[in-house]
Amino acid sequence: MDICKKELCTGCGLCEYVCPQQCISKVIGKEGVAYPYIDENICISCGKCQKLCPANNKIETHEIKEVYAGWHTEEEQRRKSASGGIAFALYQYAIEHGLYVCGCYMNAEHKAKFSITNVRKEIDKFANSKYVWSDLTGVYRRIKELVSKEEKILFIGTPCQVAAVKQLAENIRAEDSIVLVEVLCHGMAPEEYLLQHIKKVEQNKKKKAFYIKFRDEKFGTSKYYFTMSDKQGNIFYKKNVQDNDVYQFGFHKNVSLRENCYNCRYAKQERVADIALSDYYGLGTCQPKVSYGSENVSCIMINTQKGKEFFEDLVMNKYIYADKRPVEEPFNAQGTLKRPIKKNAKREEFLRKYRECQNFDQAMEEVFHKDLVKNHVRVCLHTHELFEFSRRVLKKIFPEKIINKVKKYTR
Ligand SMILES: Cc1cc2nc3c(=O)[nH]c(=O)nc-3n(C[C@H](O)[C@H](O)[C@H](O)COP(=O)(O)OP(=O)(O)OC[C@H]3O[C@@H](n4cnc5c(N)ncnc54)[C@H](O)[C@@H]3O)c2cc1C
Ligand code: SF4
Ligand code: SF4
Ligand code: SF4
Repeated sequence: MDICKKELCTGCGLCEYVCPQQCISKVIGKEGVAYPYIDENICISCGKCQKLCPANNKIETHEIKEVYAGWHTEEEQRRKSASGGIAFALYQYAIEHGLYVCGCYMNAEHKAKFSITNVRKEIDKFANSKYVWSDLTGVYRRIKELVSKEEKILFIGTPCQVAAVKQLAENIRAEDSIVLVEVLCHGMAPEEYLLQHIKKVEQNKKKKAFYIKFRDEKFGTSKYYFTMSDKQGNIFYKKNVQDNDVYQFGFHKNVSLRENCYNCRYAKQERVADIALSDYYGLGTCQPKVSYGSENVSCIMINTQKGKEFFEDLVMNKYIYADKRPVEEPFNAQGTLKRPIKKNAKREEFLRKYRECQNFDQAMEEVFHKDLVKNHVRVCLHTHELFEFSRRVLKKIFPEKIINKVKKYTR
């Protein structure tokens, strides 16, 4: 029995939560993707899983009412976040006002998990993007428990995860107890690909990764550096798409996302959450007068009255700075507000290769060999141009004599 169409299954785990027999578990298939599997020997065909599954239901959405460009007022929090640090400010505000908060973090096994807390120091781990499928196991049960004690919760996750929490909230009649925030998202790559990639780098470098980052703040989150560090926090691997990190290449070039992301039901203008957050692409295109750049600036979309009240408190209490923008400004530049991401032309070839070899790095390297070489050459040329440029500048600033003397001593 299929719970929903496979190409729509987000791996949200709501079916596992609702099953009275607990006979659903996730199993990794030939393409490295985890899907729910039903133990038919235990299943009693009650249909509860199919009934609650977000992919089988029309999820209520809202028009975007207001748009703001915004950032955290503390420079340090802004620097550590993927864009403006608005998610972090929402967590801070919520905890200081008695709410529980729910967010995604990387555990010691390099798996992206969700947890719920009301402890301020635990929210640091939620900051910044984790570009991998994240696991909501345990979250639905905990939300139900907290709501039954009349607690309120702030949930931040991707749109499909927000849709799942919304389904749960309806099911347990807890709509008023949960504030929903979505981070706009073009896709998630399966956990298995990341784990295999980390293992391969560890073998090559003969080191063990204790921490990994997808947009390491040490180099500016806008540079998208994927890093691995040892126990002491020393970075032993640092690459981005341009440097041919195959995991980032697969993720950002839309090769290695879950199949449901190419059919995403939430990639449209109407939003599923009370507030939506994204990087601010297209800033200044509709109303040109902006005195700041778009780096580390979030786009904040206010979609419901509940979201508006929460946001206004955040601004009034100076957690964030926000500048009102035309509602249509993000629409043209932000692809995920229009349609799901397009598959890379070589995705099917990649999947074929992966099914054969069961090795992410190998499949990527074989299928994208030419592209990776081209990428490498492009980077080399660019570096060479930069070197030539600095040489010309130095020549202009310092007389030939001094340069020759420096050369002599540095030889
Ligand atoms: C997988 C993914 C794809 C994205 N794609 C785009 C895009 O195409 N265009 C765009 O404009 N923005 C995208 N974003 C959103 C963007 O990276 C920022 O999260 C957003 O701009 C908010 O930034 P911030 O500084 O306020 O918070 P951040 O520092 O980004 O706060 C992190 C928040 O995101 C949540 N989060 C992080 N990783 C995950 C994950 N794997 N699963 C669920 N929740 C997670 C955390 O729980 C936390 O609440 C994506 C985010 C993710 C996680
Ligand atoms: S979308 Fe979620 S609820 Fe539906 S089958 Fe997949 S994991 Fe289960
Ligand atoms: S039909 Fe009922 S018992 Fe069977 S897997 Fe679904 S929820 Fe579980
Ligand atoms: S692209 Fe859509 S389906 Fe994929 S993770 Fe993002 S919200 Fe979910």
